[in-house]
Amino acid sequence: MANNLTIVMYHYVRPLKGSRYPELKALELDKFRGQLDFIQHHYTAVTMEDVIAASRDEARLPEQAILLTFDDGYRDHYEHVLPLLLERGMQGSFFPPACAVREGRVLDVNKIHFTLASGTNPQRLIDEIFAEMDAHRKQYGLLSNAEYFATFSRESRYDSAKVTFIKRILQKGLPAAMRGPLIDRLFRQFVTQDERDFAAELYMTDTELRDLLDAGMYIGSHGDQHLWLNTLSGEEQLREVETSLAFMADLGVSQQDWVMCYPYGGYNDALLSLLRKKGCALGLTVDVGVADLAITDPLCLPRLDTNDLPSSLDVYSVDSEPASDGHQLEA
Ligand SMILES: [Zn+2]
Repeated sequence: MANNLTIVMYHYVRPLKGSRYPELKALELDKFRGQLDFIQHHYTAVTMEDVIAASRDEARLPEQAILLTFDDGYRDHYEHVLPLLLERGMQGSFFPPACAVREGRVLDVNKIHFTLASGTNPQRLIDEIFAEMDAHRKQYGLLSNAEYFATFSRESRYDSAKVTFIKRILQKGLPAAMRGPLIDRLFRQFVTQDERDFAAELYMTDTELRDLLDAGMYIGSHGDQHLWLNTLSGEEQLREVETSLAFMADLGVSQQDWVMCYPYGGYNDALLSLLRKKGCALGLTVDVGVADLAITDPLCLPRLDTNDLPSSLDVYSVDSEPASDGHQLEA
């Protein structure tokens, strides 16, 4: 018997118009409110505890069950999401990367997002990246700029070919030793020199995360440094998992039946067996789909992006081109 569950994935949720980064690929707060209206009308919101029980066949989920998940530990979630969920009696599940909260560092993924949202022409950024590649071509044995551009520039559901190229080349196209310093330089040049201050504004604090727990929200693991866990050695995977578990223990999250949300959706068999050993109950991917708990591996649950659902009760107002605004995928 099917036990269906729709899991929705959110990243940035904020009032964009008139904000400092209106071009950030975030979900406009009004649309989030509208999407909650739609969800309450068509679905029944469940808690993570309900889902864990259902995944073990100890309980059944209601018809049209839905779970709301919020990745990356943004202050957006505390400031804008929490009050709306409380107002409606809904539980959200939040997945902060430990280092973002603890170390005052801005994650590379966010540095790339805000560099792109800084109003700088994408071609200008590509010129900067190419200049850096020219300077390091010998040292790292890089191919020609044109070859990289041909490999990584693909127009996607959300981004132009140039923007996709910038994201891909900075996320994984270039050697790791070159990527970090280049992302830093672009972030300093086009966004801010004060990373610590920026991080303090962007991410929740420990205290705010404890407030979420006190308010009945759920907190799970999103790793420590927000890495593609499927690219790491077993030892590195262990470090990521243990650091994140220690961080959650400090917040007061139970170490039994915890939930892992894979950064970028990256996982592999080695990671899954490590998670089973560590008592992980559920794993959230970025594979697009509705989960059937009767048959889906509980460590590989698919999710829908917020853009896959209408952002208003009036279904005719669904954006025909979601690419124009609420991009949420962290890729
Ligand atoms: Zn993430």
